[in-house]
Amino acid sequence: MALSKPLLISVVVFFLNVPAVVLVVQSFDDEKRCDRGRVTCDGKCAVKFAVNQEKSQFQSQREPERQCYRSCLNASEACKSAAASLIIAACILGVGIVLTTAMIFLVDSLITKEGTVQTPPPRAAYMEPIYTESEKRKMRRGSNTPNDEVELVEVKCPSCNISVDVESRWFTMSCGGTDGAVCLKCKQVIVGVL
Ligand SMILES: [Zn+2]
Repeated sequence: MALSKPLLISVVVFFLNVPAVVLVVQSFDDEKRCDRGRVTCDGKCAVKFAVNQEKSQFQSQREPERQCYRSCLNASEACKSAAASLIIAACILGVGIVLTTAMIFLVDSLITKEGTVQTPPPRAAYMEPIYTESEKRKMRRGSNTPNDEVELVEVKCPSCNISVDVESRWFTMSCGGTDGAVCLKCKQVIVGVL
């Protein structure tokens, strides 16, 4: 039994949406964790350099303190970019949902109500074979009819200018039919019904 279109779409949306939602939630969580980490880090710097702050007379003496805050900022930025990459992954999943849904509609439009793929009406892939005189003789020999010993006459094909052996019966009016003798090369009828 084939899945119906709405069911198929809901299955796809569900299986791609769940991880997307998880990624978004995780990203927001990570971002909050980054902010908390930054606050803790800054606090540590403040405690570490509290004494130094009082003692220092020159700006240059407070450089280690500034370095400490800078490292807190860098760590926080790295943490946040990792969280942002989760959002990007969630967006890719979102695009996947849209594309998959579009694909389902596309495939569905190619399928008829009977469940068969629409194809153009069938047509012949090959032309009917055109047999030469000698091929026809061979076929007759195969069918055991007493037509083996037939006198042959050479006839020139007007278009190819080559000699072709045809049965002399064509000229004695003892042979006829809808298909005449054909040239070996161009397969055009050269004797018989032209
Ligand atoms: Zn010819």
